[in-house]
Amino acid sequence: MDNVYICDLYEKFHCLAGDCPTSCCKGWVLPVDDEAYERYKKLEGLYGRHVRSHITKHKGIRVIRRQLGRCPFLNSDKLCQFQANGHPELMPLVCRTYPRETVSFDKEARSTLVLSCPAVAKLFIETPGRREFHRADTKVEVFWELNNEDDAMFAFLKEEEEKLLDFFWQDDREMPEKWQAMYAYVYRKHDLIIRDRLKETVDIPLTYDKSNMGEYALLNPPTYCFFKIETIDHMVLNCINYGALSVREPKFYHLIKGYLDIFGKQYLDCVDNYFDEQMRKMLRENPEAYERYRSYFSWCMNELFFLAFENYNIIRQYLYCVLYTQLYMIFDLVDYMEKGPNRSPERLAEVLYICEQGIQHNPSLKHNLMEVIRREFL
Ligand code: SF4
Repeated sequence: MDNVYICDLYEKFHCLAGDCPTSCCKGWVLPVDDEAYERYKKLEGLYGRHVRSHITKHKGIRVIRRQLGRCPFLNSDKLCQFQANGHPELMPLVCRTYPRETVSFDKEARSTLVLSCPAVAKLFIETPGRREFHRADTKVEVFWELNNEDDAMFAFLKEEEEKLLDFFWQDDREMPEKWQAMYAYVYRKHDLIIRDRLKETVDIPLTYDKSNMGEYALLNPPTYCFFKIETIDHMVLNCINYGALSVREPKFYHLIKGYLDIFGKQYLDCVDNYFDEQMRKMLRENPEAYERYRSYFSWCMNELFFLAFENYNIIRQYLYCVLYTQLYMIFDLVDYMEKGPNRSPERLAEVLYICEQGIQHNPSLKHNLMEVIRREFL
């Protein structure tokens, strides 16, 4: 595909290889795409048998069978055996592309990076701000295709993403105010889209005027607690197998435990205020954190808003962005309260990639997030 737009950090990424504190070859489910599997089938002799013996099925998906918790093709130099032997085409697509992610939207594709990789998280911490996209002059592999031939919807999403992010970055108003105004705007547009009245959405204003914002904004003052802590609590506590988590993701487990220690001391009728107050206190002491959260929300918008191309559900995609940002803020606040104001950039990056791995890359938690959004907002 020629029409590919890449994020400004895309080419700055360099894999940490042997110095990586986590390694994507460890602990994760590694799916094997059909093309890679076809290549494995063609490998002859003992080598072919050896490669195929490490492929199995997990929940109906073909995956690499981990050994000692890691990919069996990872050698003692912490390098992928396929790559080290000059056969990158044998790597499954996810391994060849990670942490790059190119999504094709029919006539155009977009390439970003995922923050679950420590090297990308570090880049993000070092260069906060609104991301820019430019046309790629090198070839990139498409990881995921969203098939929809609705050109009008594509143009709409492109325009709306730009408009929402312009609004989000344009002035010094606080993020909670912006979230509310954007929520009201996206909600009203969504309401018309699902009734197939896309053309009429142009009349909806994006504004801080409360009389245009509908019930949610009138009933809820703008706070950092966009989603109630009670709801977040259900989500975090109900769907995580803590026994397994403490072994498989001990760093994320530690953050959740910190969350329980801090928020568990509060009562339900004041916990939302408590979170908002603690966030504001932390931001007064660490104004740089605000830029980080802003950049994170903006990053989520770049990553997720366009996915409505397939399902038309712009409100759900928007709410995911707010929810992920609030979750990141909660765990980052927990770390701040535990470690104090002088956390190193390395630690900030670590908290970020731990959250990404534990939240966005945790299928059961992700499923529960959808339930939360459905229950509270849709
Ligand atoms: S997680 Fe990122 S830095 Fe670490 S090995 Fe994988 S691609 Fe490289």
